[in-house]
Amino acid sequence: MHSTLDEVTVGTPDAALTEGLDGWRDLPAVQQPGWPDEQLLGRVTAELASYPPLVFAGECDDLKAGIAAAARGEAFFLQGGDCAETFAEVSADRIRNKIKTLLQMAVVLTYGASMPVLKVGRLAGQYAKPRSKPVEVRDGVELPAYRGDAVNDYSFDAEARVPDPRRLLRVYHSSSATLNLVRAFTKGGFADLRHVHEWNRGFIASSANARYEAMAKDIDRAMRFMAACGGDFDTLRTVDFYSSHEALLLDYERPLTRIDSRTQLPYNVSAHFVWIGERTRQLDGAHVDLMSRVRNPIGVKLGPSTTPEDAVALVERLDPEREPGRLTFIVRMGAGRVREALAPIVKAVNNVAPNVLWICDPMHGNTFESASGYKTRRFEDVMDEVRGFFEVHTQLGTVPGGLHVELTGDDVTECLGGAEHIDDGDLATRYETLCDPRLNHQQSLEMAFLVAEMLSER
Ligand code: PEP
Ligand code: MN
Repeated sequence: MHSTLDEVTVGTPDAALTEGLDGWRDLPAVQQPGWPDEQLLGRVTAELASYPPLVFAGECDDLKAGIAAAARGEAFFLQGGDCAETFAEVSADRIRNKIKTLLQMAVVLTYGASMPVLKVGRLAGQYAKPRSKPVEVRDGVELPAYRGDAVNDYSFDAEARVPDPRRLLRVYHSSSATLNLVRAFTKGGFADLRHVHEWNRGFIASSANARYEAMAKDIDRAMRFMAACGGDFDTLRTVDFYSSHEALLLDYERPLTRIDSRTQLPYNVSAHFVWIGERTRQLDGAHVDLMSRVRNPIGVKLGPSTTPEDAVALVERLDPEREPGRLTFIVRMGAGRVREALAPIVKAVNNVAPNVLWICDPMHGNTFESASGYKTRRFEDVMDEVRGFFEVHTQLGTVPGGLHVELTGDDVTECLGGAEHIDDGDLATRYETLCDPRLNHQQSLEMAFLVAEMLSER
């Protein structure tokens, strides 16, 4: 992350510049909590609007340039983190493990792709969840669904489930603390390529991962070659790392939308990259309207019901200028659907907007309930969807530009399979997610090695 102080975004622009930023208020907004106390909400949003930006507009532009390169096939986009962050897990260890996992994956992918990897955390703002049902029923008791720590509490208790807007302030402060540590980790020497490579050696040392030894050895040799040539490892002590989350709660996203003092353009300063979810991408809805007005690089999730016409209409609405790096489609079709469903969409979009970046979310189309009752995903299905995504792009001559993954740096047992052969009976051992199941540290690295193989074969 780099930017200069004169790019600091200010919060008191004149009215003409903010015109339109509140247009969403007259449009249907799905998946909003229905805050019971309007006055309290008003005080909270005014306070949020007075806080400093969490990211700088100039950093968002840097990421946009990187995404433009990824769309041209000159970089690879890696986005990962929890399905839902929680306040309880804003701790040094959890954040470090996540960053470490993403950095380890990025090194392997950089080698496989022979390209720079854009590192984007699904963190520092990922506290709100869209839900398929507004209520949850347990043993005949019905309560409002848990909508993420940004809205209510997970405990199954009537009072805890009442939406409380004061939680949005805690989202801001938790995100700020997270980003502060992320900036320290990625700029202070922790991300040094030599450390990251050592950690990957640790991964390979386990016999379960022997299959990846050949590539790890190749990377090792490449490192020694670089050193022998007098390569300057000191320039590889720091990395650029970006933040992202689903822009779901408009009462959080709007107060953190500001006019950049340098360009006089609106940016969402709660994260570098924000995306619109599969459930909130209605063309005439509030989410698409607000996101159409900010200048960040943005994403939209596309599920298996998307038509080519829907996707093209989203391009017209969100990227009418066909700006390089502006728009990313995050496709999440399911392993069984991706090979047939994706091609017509990519073809139609590519005809009108070849600047769009395509990335694969192999998680959300592959969720099911296991026999023991856990919401889970099979590592094999996840990898099969990635493979299908690559196949479609290879056939069309378009660019499979990146991955969007739900993962954690900890040794949880939430997804089945992988080299550790987690089975249904193991899920109970360490099932910690409050929302969707995440790949654990090992499974994440395993994915990186498998995708690196796919990239190096291209
Ligand atoms: C998510 O990313 O956690 C999510 C809810 O995804 P989608 O919008 O694709 O369903
Ligand atoms: Mn999820």
